[in-house]
Amino acid sequence: MIARVTLDLALGKEFDYLIPADLDGQVEVGTRVKAPFAHRQVLGCVTALLESSPHPNLRPLLKVIGRQSHVSPAILRLARWMGEYYCCGPEAALKTVLPEAVRKEKDGWREQLFVRALPQHGPGPKLSRRQEEILDYARGHAEAPLQELLRATGAAGQTVRRLEDKGLLAIAPKISERDPYARETILPTQSLTMNADQARALAEISAALRSDGPPRRAFLLHGVTGSGKTEVYLQAIALALEQGKGAIVLVPEISLTPQTVERFKARFSSGPQQTLVAVLHSHLSAGERHDEWHKIRQGRARIAIGARSAVFAPVERLGLIIVDEEHEHSYKQEEAPRYHARDVAVVRAQMEEAVVVLGSATPSLESFYNARKGKYRLLEMPARADDKKMPIVHVVDMRQVARHEKKSAIFSPVLQEAILQRLERKEQTILFLNRRGYATSLQCELCGYVAQCPDCSVSLTYHRQEQKLKCHICGHEETAPLVCPEAKCRNPAIRYSGLGTERVESALASLFPRARIKRMDSDTLKRKEDYRRILGDVRTGKIDILVGTQMIAKGLHFPNVTLVGIVHADLGLHIPDFRGSERTFQLLTQVAGRAGRGDVEGEVLVQAFTPFHPAIQYARRHDFNGFYEQEMEFRQQLKYPPITRIALLLLRGRNEEKVKFSADYLKRELAKRTAGMADLIIKGPAAAPLARTKTEYRFQIMLLTRQMSRLSLLLAELSATLALPEEVRMTVDIDPVDLM
Ligand code: ADP
Ligand code: ZN
Repeated sequence: MIARVTLDLALGKEFDYLIPADLDGQVEVGTRVKAPFAHRQVLGCVTALLESSPHPNLRPLLKVIGRQSHVSPAILRLARWMGEYYCCGPEAALKTVLPEAVRKEKDGWREQLFVRALPQHGPGPKLSRRQEEILDYARGHAEAPLQELLRATGAAGQTVRRLEDKGLLAIAPKISERDPYARETILPTQSLTMNADQARALAEISAALRSDGPPRRAFLLHGVTGSGKTEVYLQAIALALEQGKGAIVLVPEISLTPQTVERFKARFSSGPQQTLVAVLHSHLSAGERHDEWHKIRQGRARIAIGARSAVFAPVERLGLIIVDEEHEHSYKQEEAPRYHARDVAVVRAQMEEAVVVLGSATPSLESFYNARKGKYRLLEMPARADDKKMPIVHVVDMRQVARHEKKSAIFSPVLQEAILQRLERKEQTILFLNRRGYATSLQCELCGYVAQCPDCSVSLTYHRQEQKLKCHICGHEETAPLVCPEAKCRNPAIRYSGLGTERVESALASLFPRARIKRMDSDTLKRKEDYRRILGDVRTGKIDILVGTQMIAKGLHFPNVTLVGIVHADLGLHIPDFRGSERTFQLLTQVAGRAGRGDVEGEVLVQAFTPFHPAIQYARRHDFNGFYEQEMEFRQQLKYPPITRIALLLLRGRNEEKVKFSADYLKRELAKRTAGMADLIIKGPAAAPLARTKTEYRFQIMLLTRQMSRLSLLLAELSATLALPEEVRMTVDIDPVDLM
C-alpha cells in the first residue's frame, strides 16, 4: 500500500510513500506520520491510501505518530475546502485544524508516578512509624500520585522506595490527565421552563436535528441581550446528546470566561446525559490543550466549547454547532489561513449533516441577509427572558456642548450629572470609548461634518504632514480643508480630535477625585488574571466607574451597573471601513445591553457629534430591522457585502516604488485574467489604511464579486504564477472583516 502525504512544509504538493511492513494496519487517512524528505525527516498527514503511485522509487514512511489517526475524513474534507476558498494552500489549512499541542512527534501526555498499596500475605515486616504512616495513606487511596503522598506525609522519596523494595507498595508511571477546571466547584443546573419564544426556537432546531434529509439546517437566532439564547443552546445540545450526537459551541475569545464555560459544564456535569465538556482555549497550557483535545478525539467529551479554532474540534457524529455572538469579528483569523470560523462552521455542518445555530442580538448583515434570502432559517426572540426592561438610551449632541465650552469637553454636563448621581446612590457606571478612531478622520466639532470619499463612501483619512485627505480603498486624494466646508458652518477650527481611554480616565479622576476608577483595555490587561480580577472588583462593588474599550461590551452581567456612557460614539463611525456603521450599531446595542441587568432600570447616554447618524438612532430605539433596511440600501448602492463578497490583496515591501509599481502591475494582470467575470469590481491600488509600518510600505487592491469561489481559484493561480519582485510580498484575504 501507498500513502499520500501532505507534509508540514509549504510545498504546494503532496508526496507518495510506501507503507513498510512494520507499519502495516496502522496507517489510515488522517494519520500523522514521519517521512523522509530530501535529507530531512518531516512530519505530515496522510490524505489518501493508494494501490499504486505514478512516481517510481518511493521511500518508506518512518513512523506513525500517536495511537489514533488525528484528522477524520470529514475534517480533511473541510481543510481541503478551506485551502481552496481562502487561497492558503492545503498545508496551511491542514496545520490549522490541529492545535500545535497535538501536532508534536512526542506524545503529549503527562506521566506521573503513582503509588499503590499491594495486598499483604501473612505478618508484615517491622516498620518505622513514618513507614506505617505512608502505608496507611496508600491503603486509604486506591492510587495516589507519589508527589501528593510525599506532600501529605512529609516523607522522603527514599523511604517510599524502601517500602517498594519490601514488596508493600508498587510505584509505576501512569498518564495523569490535566483538568484546567479542576479547581472550580461547579454545581449542576436543571433546564429552565422555556417561554413561548424560546420554545418555538427550540422546536424548530429540534425538528432539524431529528430529520435526516438535507433541508434547512442552518439557523440564525436573533434574540435581544437577555432573551435567553444560552438556555436555547443548552437544551438544543441536550437534544443532540439524546440522539447520540456531539456538539461544538463557539464563543468569542473575549467571552470565553469561566462563567460562560461554567454554564455549559454545570448543565452536563450530572444527570443521565452526563458528559465531559472539553474546553479549547488559548489561555490553557499546551499540556491542558493537548489533553482536552484528546478527550474529544477519544469520544469521552461529547461537547467542545472554545473560541475560533474549536470549529475544528474532532467531535465524531457531530449533531450541532452553536456560534454565539456570530457577528463578532474575532471569529476571523487575521493570519493565514484567514478563515472565518462562523462560515467554516456553516460549511462543516453542511458537510457532516449537522445543524448549525448562529446566535446574536445584533446579527452581522451577512447572516441576516442570508436569513432573508432563505439560506438560513430566522428565529426571533424579541423580548428579555428575565422580564427586565430594555434600558433607556439618550443621545447627547456634542456639537451643542462644543459651542458652549471654550475647550473641547470630554464629558457633557448631562453625563457628568448622571455619573455624580450614581456615585451618590452607590451605583456603578461603565464608560465606554471605541478607540478604533485612531485612524485620523477629520471631523468638525461644531457641525459634525466628516470628509468622505465620493466613490466609496468611507471616511477619508487625514494625513497631517501632507495636509491631504486620502481614501484607503480607491486611492482618491484631496487637499485637507482649512475651514469646515459646510456652507452653514465654516468653522475655522476644523480638526481631528484624538481621544483615548487614558485621557478619559484622567479627566474623570480630576472631575470625581473620590471615585474609585478603573481602566480596562488591552494596555492595562497584561495578564489573563487581570481581566478576572477587575471584573471581580466590579461585581463586589470595589469599583465605582469602569472605563474601557469594546472589551467591556461583551456579555457581562453586573446588576449594580445602572449607567452606561458612550463617550464618543462617532469614533467608530468615521473610519475608512464601510462596516463602520454596522460596528457602531452593534457596539452601542451590546453596550446598552450592559445596563439594567439588575433590579434598577438602566440608563445609557451616548455622546456624539453626529447624533442623527442612523447607526446611533436605530441603536437608541433598539431597532435592528430598521437599521438593516437602511444600511442595506447603502451597501446595495455601492455593491458592498453582503451584496457581494470581498477579496483584499495586500502588497508590501521595503521599497515604496517597487511596491507601488507591483500593485499597478497586479491590477493590470487581474483585469486581464478576470475578464470573464462580468460582475467583478476592482478598486485601487491605494495606500493601505496602515500605509507604512516601521520597515514596510503597503498597498492594497479590493475586489468585489458575487462569485467568490470562482475568484478564489483565479487568485490561487495568480499568486502561484505572478512574477513579483523578490522583496515584494502579496497576501490574499477572502471576506476580510477589518479593513483598517
Ligand atoms: P442571552 O444569552 O440571550 O443574552 P441569557 O441566556 O444569558 O440570555 O439569559 C438572560 C437571563 O434570563 C439569565 O439570567 C437566564 O438565567 C434567564 N432566563 C433565560 N431563560 C429563562 C426562562 N425560560 N425562564 C426564566 N429565566 C430565564
Ligand atoms: Zn474611494
